[in-house]
Amino acid sequence: MHALFHTTRQFRQQRAWSFASGSNDIFNDPNLPEQYPPDLELEPVHLDINLHIDVTRQTAVGTVTNSVQARRSGPRKLTLDAVDFEDVAVHDPDGHALQWDYDGRKLTILWQEPFTAQETRRAAVTYRVTEPTSGLYFSQPTAVYPQDAEYAASDHETERARHWLPCIDLPNVRTTIDYHLRAESRFTILANGLLRQEEAHEDGTKTAHWQLQQLCPSYLACIAIGDFVRADDGAFHDGEKEIPLAYFSSRDHTAADLLRTFGRTGQMMAWMTQKLDMPFPYPKYYQFALPGIGGAMENISLVSWGDRLVQDETLAQEAQWVMDQMNVHEMSHSYFGDAVVCRDFAHAWLKESWATYIEQVYREDTANQDEADYVYYSNAQYYLKEADEKYQRPLMTRRFKSSWDLYDAHLYEGGACRLHTLRSELGDETFWTAVRDYLHRFNGKVVETDDFRSVMEAHSGRSLGYFFDQWFRRAGYPDLEVEFEHDDDKQQGTFTVKQKQVTPETPTAVFKFTTALSWTIAGETYSLPIQISEPQHTFVISMAQKPEMVRFDPHHQALHKLTFTPGDKLLRTQLTAAPDIIGRIQAAHALAKTSKRANIQAIVDAYGQEPFWGARREMAAALADADHDTAAAGLAQLVTQEQDPMVLAHLLRAAGAYRDTRIRDAIQQRLVAGLPYIATQAAYEALGAQRANAPWSLLAAAAGEPSFNGLAQGGALLALAHTRHEEALPFLREKATYGRASNRVRAAAVIALAHVSQGLENKQTREAVIEQLLDLLRDPWHEVRWAAARALRIMKAAQAIDAVSAYGRSLSQQEQAAVARIVAALRQADKVDGSAVQKQVEDLRDKMRKLEETLQKLAAQIEEKP
Ligand SMILES: [Zn+2]
Repeated sequence: MHALFHTTRQFRQQRAWSFASGSNDIFNDPNLPEQYPPDLELEPVHLDINLHIDVTRQTAVGTVTNSVQARRSGPRKLTLDAVDFEDVAVHDPDGHALQWDYDGRKLTILWQEPFTAQETRRAAVTYRVTEPTSGLYFSQPTAVYPQDAEYAASDHETERARHWLPCIDLPNVRTTIDYHLRAESRFTILANGLLRQEEAHEDGTKTAHWQLQQLCPSYLACIAIGDFVRADDGAFHDGEKEIPLAYFSSRDHTAADLLRTFGRTGQMMAWMTQKLDMPFPYPKYYQFALPGIGGAMENISLVSWGDRLVQDETLAQEAQWVMDQMNVHEMSHSYFGDAVVCRDFAHAWLKESWATYIEQVYREDTANQDEADYVYYSNAQYYLKEADEKYQRPLMTRRFKSSWDLYDAHLYEGGACRLHTLRSELGDETFWTAVRDYLHRFNGKVVETDDFRSVMEAHSGRSLGYFFDQWFRRAGYPDLEVEFEHDDDKQQGTFTVKQKQVTPETPTAVFKFTTALSWTIAGETYSLPIQISEPQHTFVISMAQKPEMVRFDPHHQALHKLTFTPGDKLLRTQLTAAPDIIGRIQAAHALAKTSKRANIQAIVDAYGQEPFWGARREMAAALADADHDTAAAGLAQLVTQEQDPMVLAHLLRAAGAYRDTRIRDAIQQRLVAGLPYIATQAAYEALGAQRANAPWSLLAAAAGEPSFNGLAQGGALLALAHTRHEEALPFLREKATYGRASNRVRAAAVIALAHVSQGLENKQTREAVIEQLLDLLRDPWHEVRWAAARALRIMKAAQAIDAVSAYGRSLSQQEQAAVARIVAALRQADKVDGSAVQKQVEDLRDKMRKLEETLQKLAAQIEEKP
């Protein structure tokens, strides 16, 4: 797995992100099934989980009892999800006669007598799971890795609880839960809800009884057992009750690290309970962070985290902001998702879009408008990138292969921007009043998209069917081209707005939305609200003189993609004078595309005076995209100057877009002077991208050096791949090997190995690498196995089809869908040698840039001549 954190999303979505590799257009298959929630004539209402978890043997053994209630009289059959259970036996503790059958995936229970309406019965399933392939993860010290963490922890979203719990593994089935978890007495035992009791046994074990009295779907059930560091952080008092706050990790971190990482949790809860006008719905709020757990997951009252963002003081400078974004995101799921549950995954946007939107709202209320705008802008870019490069799908859809596929940039960022569009449409007062009412009305219940819409309609008096159809049930977005002209004679300005997504083939793709135009004359800004509803509009406005700045959607009211180049002069004014950071960022990107020296120098200069870190990140990215020598020179200079840890990594990565000795030297100087971790990682990658000019020995040394959370070392390993040096091969092969590097970085070594090897001409070496990757499909560390599958795809190793298919069969269903796409890609592998083409393109780009530079110098000389 890549150890990158360009943004919140990349870290949060490590899992989805890596699983989502494979074919780009995963929603366009005409054979996709339509997914609906199942009948619940017998509905589980309570789960009693009585298990002995043996961390050393990697087993869970015991009895789980589902209490089920009949919704009508007559039914007698219950089907539970239960994957790869052993020694299964089922009985009804109250003596009702039943038969059962288990096929390795489904456990079918048939009572002899039918249920009467509302009758409740129990089905007790006794079983054992050993080394489950998913859902419940184990880690322990070994002879090879004596320092490894010791734990068993669950991670379910979306459908992985079934690998260790017999349950109906879908979100519309929600139960209260009693956990009786037995484990070694030296361990901490955690689960959802409240700890009622811990009882010691004579054999060195203990049983912890955790009780959750609120309804919980299987994907939000969670346990964590292990040798943990604990940091108590007091309690949040909401006037009525106390919510205790505590954080846990493996011994890799200290209590001080945990408090540094999660320490704003109480303040966030104070803000959130007030913003949503609802007491916190659960009796405690614990969070745990462990190596080998992906991303972050909002399990009810027990949030789980991968531990790469657990911070010492250095990492805190770079990662605390991202950490807080994710923390407030997960917390908001306590409302959106946990208390108000999506009935099925087709409506998952009601939780993920909301939690992502809350990140923006939190910044707006507790930091400033610049940060909120930056979150909105970044979200829009992420969504648009996926929509343009991968696929466009409706946010609410029933057509998908695996529910996990839905967890994409449409669901998170695309939905967050649409919620902001809805808020802009309804106004703050109506919107928030309606949202609070929605949460109160559906607290403890399941919801669908129409439930949310009808509450919005009730509070606004608006008919929102069209709005929801357009933004949530239809694919696509407004792709706008805006033009502006000023006529001195007539003293008027004309804006033309064209919806580019509307073509003769797609006449119904038109969007309707509310926005505004603005223009600035003599320092005074004027604004005109407008409605867009046609493929093209023209707005003629009286303007006594030519404005110095013109804007479309200056208040960021509606999600769209904008192409608007009103001229160099206007854009250069906007680059520094726009009051909002989005205006300044848009100007930077538009100017970078002009390929004009003066415009690009203007971005470099604007960067120097730009007060907001987020805008500087984007200006650096614009310079990276400019593909111009002035940008390369500017980036080299900015690399020597930038001091803000919030910007450094972004700036260094942007600089890595150029193979340039000035940039290489500037980065090396910064490394010598010392950089924080993520910046160091970015610096290595940028140096690796210098290819033949990369400082080989420096990178090789860093790639062998263990580092905090594996951050810098992971960057150096990837940097070796960027160099394309074949000398990197033996080194990467060693670091990928079990026992030869930390498990935190071996997956990065595996991916790097594939990148270096993909262009290999020596057949024998290529075969040797592929053989090693095939072996790594059976590595003890699951992240490495997954990396090996991706690596084989990168190498287009058609001979790996059988082995990757076999690996896929060992995984959960949702992971299998992603592996199936890798297998499909391998099948099609490579009529064209992609890497060779890529290299040619890169070389051509370099040549073009140098040519342009020469041309401009020539042009300048000609101009200078009298
Ligand atoms: Zn989420």
